[in-house]
Amino acid sequence: MKCTIGVDIGGTDVKIGKFYGDQLNKKMIIKTNKENKGSNILQDVFKAIDKIVGLDQLEGVGFAIPGPVVKGHILGSENLGWERFDVESEIRMHFKNIDIYVLNDANAATVGEMAYGGGKKFKNFVFVTLGTGVGGGVFINGRLVEGVSGSAGEIGHLKVNTGNIRRCKCGLYDCLEQYSSATGVVITANELRIGRNTKLNEIDITCERVFDLAKAGDEVALEVVDEMVHKLSLGLSIVSSVINPEAFVIGGGVSKSGEFLIEKLRKKFYTYAFYSIENTDFVLAQLGNEAGIYGANYAVRNKII
Ligand SMILES: [Zn+2]
Repeated sequence: MKCTIGVDIGGTDVKIGKFYGDQLNKKMIIKTNKENKGSNILQDVFKAIDKIVGLDQLEGVGFAIPGPVVKGHILGSENLGWERFDVESEIRMHFKNIDIYVLNDANAATVGEMAYGGGKKFKNFVFVTLGTGVGGGVFINGRLVEGVSGSAGEIGHLKVNTGNIRRCKCGLYDCLEQYSSATGVVITANELRIGRNTKLNEIDITCERVFDLAKAGDEVALEVVDEMVHKLSLGLSIVSSVINPEAFVIGGGVSKSGEFLIEKLRKKFYTYAFYSIENTDFVLAQLGNEAGIYGANYAVRNKII
């Protein structure tokens, strides 16, 4: 049978999905080998693809990569140890005469949510992924916006505080992801719990547990969540003033906190948004950590950009 492949290369593992049309048929996960500046990663992925394709006829491969991508070139990926290089040409050396599409991982997830998930009913939305970091993707008038140097939608690095308080791994200070990612939530929890009467002092703090305690009514945990929501709302109100989207589609591990987070976000957002910004929807993403492979597959099949 004819098949296409969606690949999502992450800092810890690589997800590979074999699709018959829109249908995910088989999934494979391999470890990301970051040794030698990640120079073996692509070869490992090629081998895995050959294996998962089996006797099927491969028609195209979409690659989602953690870093800015312009015309098939990655401009560098801190997560993988990659420097600037022409990813698409390297892939073409292995897979000849098939369609190849390379895009940024958050953009791939955005495409996935657009085609099959939380963004399906919107022509204009911003995807927000809240995980170890904060990422995003911008979809306007039915098109993905990548930006001249592949950096559109990098909302995790909006500045949401002054005073050079939390240094970000990008080199700047006080980026949104230092406050509203899972990592940021843990930092805030560790700051706010000190000297307070809270169950946070009795556990190994993870973002998930902070949210569980907040839902159970722990006052300090609630403060931690409110601080996370406050910073995220600030960031999203800025995004709204620039593109006024119909909706924000919220994904990533932190979004597992569900409507509890969405409700808080919706409320806080409107306290910061410009008065004419109204009817902005907040919805949960639906594809979980498969958004990237779905999006990469959709991108290569439909030549999305
Ligand atoms: Zn940053």
